Amino acid sequence: MKIVIALGGNALGNSVAEQKENAALTAKKIVEIIKMGHNVIVSHGNGPQVGLINLAFSEGKKVNPKVYDMPFSECGAMSQGYIGYHLQNAIANELAINHINKKVVSLITQVEVDKDDKAFLDPTKPIGSFYSKEEALKLGYPVKEDAGRGYRRVIASPKPVKIIESEQINTLVNNGFIVVACGGGGIPVINNNGHLEGIDAVIDKDYASSKLADEVNADCLLILTAVDNALINFGLPNEEKLTDVTVSKMKEYNLQGHFKAGSMKPKVEASIEFVQACNKRKAIITSIEAASIALKGLSGTTIHN
Ligand code: ADP
Ligand code: MG
Repeated sequence: MKIVIALGGNALGNSVAEQKENAALTAKKIVEIIKMGHNVIVSHGNGPQVGLINLAFSEGKKVNPKVYDMPFSECGAMSQGYIGYHLQNAIANELAINHINKKVVSLITQVEVDKDDKAFLDPTKPIGSFYSKEEALKLGYPVKEDAGRGYRRVIASPKPVKIIESEQINTLVNNGFIVVACGGGGIPVINNNGHLEGIDAVIDKDYASSKLADEVNADCLLILTAVDNALINFGLPNEEKLTDVTVSKMKEYNLQGHFKAGSMKPKVEASIEFVQACNKRKAIITSIEAASIALKGLSGTTIHN
């Protein structure tokens, strides 16, 4: 099968040291999947990493006039670079341990968004430094109060429309390469009469991974996160693991509000969109630990037609 594996925050961690350690553990699981004979594309989140890069520039600017604010699309590109390096390094090491003669490559990926996406009218995603109200209002960016901790810049989270490099990614994976791509949901770009331009935004990595899986016509979207299953009645005494669910049932559960916005909901919606477009497709939501057994149908939440 051709599989897009979308890695969540727990596959990476919160510091360079932790990220290298977690990437090594994640690489073991990815290589288990490769050993099963699958072709894989690996995508990943970048929330903490891109936040830190952006913060470093805005804080650095306060103490050194040579430092300036880094535009958000450049921050995204930087995060794809060093996360890609860690994953590429860890996967190559794990392939070598297992004497598997395969090569891994990470690809800087741009993702087109619609400049008229409604998300631009109401930015919701807080990023970077905390400011007092007075400082925040002088920034010249949209700002919002963030959970009693101060004011922060907010940016829009528009829907992915098109993966710009999907043909390159597909050519690589179809020729046996393991590809790391679409990191952090991709670098958001808008199309100005055929001219692509970076824009301040952040694309949800689950939606972007679903779009990528669709564009390369993958057989499976494997979303790896902190939990083994999507649950209904999450957090309630009657919570229940979902194991094998049809798209139409999953849509029903989603409408009933079982999945939290910003965490499980985007994974469920990404899965629904990918699976419903083609009969033979499936999506799996599970943990990194359970990834390969979930592919055998023995764990995780599988969504199918
Ligand atoms: P990632 O970094 O992998 O995207 P998130 O924290 O965004 O991880 O989403 C995974 C989290 O979603 C789980 O750890 C869990 O706490 C939460 N969650 C919300 N609703 C549900 C649900 N219905 N079933 C399972 N987990 C849920
Ligand atoms: Mg998430």
